[in-house]
Amino acid sequence: MATQINGLHHITAVSGPPELNYDFYTRKLGLRFVKKTINFDDPFTYHLYYGNYEATPGSAITFFPWQGVPQGSPSTGEATVTSYAVPKGSFDFWRDRFKRHKMDLISEESRFGEHLILFKDVEGMKNELVETVVSDSVRPHNTEDIPENAAIRGFYGTTLSLADTGRTAELLREFGWKEKAAEGDVVRYTSEPENQLGTTVDLKYEPGMRGRFGRGSIHHIAFRVPDDKAQEEWRKKLTEMGFGPTEVRDRQYFRSIYFREPGGVLFEIATDTPGFTKDEPLESLGQELKLPPWFEKNRTEIEKRLPEL
Ligand code: ZN
Repeated sequence: MATQINGLHHITAVSGPPELNYDFYTRKLGLRFVKKTINFDDPFTYHLYYGNYEATPGSAITFFPWQGVPQGSPSTGEATVTSYAVPKGSFDFWRDRFKRHKMDLISEESRFGEHLILFKDVEGMKNELVETVVSDSVRPHNTEDIPENAAIRGFYGTTLSLADTGRTAELLREFGWKEKAAEGDVVRYTSEPENQLGTTVDLKYEPGMRGRFGRGSIHHIAFRVPDDKAQEEWRKKLTEMGFGPTEVRDRQYFRSIYFREPGGVLFEIATDTPGFTKDEPLESLGQELKLPPWFEKNRTEIEKRLPEL
């Protein structure tokens, strides 16, 4: 039996200019900039990570700011919404903030009895704030203008837009997730323990959306496992199931395997270890450009070719 997969680890998307992305996620949403590094498969592109104070698994939204990539629009077979957990009673604060900062609030809705604010980021990517209860052990990032009782804790979850939700649901059940409820075109899956981060995946029946992959598109979603041993169990199991996962790739702060789930979404399974404090202390995360050891010899050229941030 492979270890149960509990929750999301990170979500990675494509953005336009890095400074606009940085401004939105830190100054508007109040996340902490936790790692400034490069795309290890494309070293002249940044890989920017934002999260809660400790950059815990289940809080990291990450971006590849690819130069010259066209504006994207959502397609069936992609993750199309990123949801963030905020404390109950914080929506008055957020409504006011969205208005003052002229942020693109789409609507307020209720789903499965929970109140949410749907909004777009600077690239038009859909995000939600969900009022919910998150364990007190999760430490939000402190900013001057967002009080602790409103600050984002990390991920609530994500929405996958699918032509057939059944086979993806089957895979989530293999992960150890359970169907919580169904409402309209959405089936909700959750993992334990429920007051942790990133434990909700909504499978939305949304066939026939033919968008374009580009700025504002989610590239992949990563689920978390505690360590290399659990990851190897899953690599074996996914291979047996016919998903053809990749070899383990060293992402410096975690190790990863990737595969496409039956609905077309690129899934990753990432280890909690070693974490974002591997190459800089918790207090100063995100302050310097960090390169993996195998790219240090190219630092001068990399720094020259990356845009100012
Ligand atoms: Zn990833």
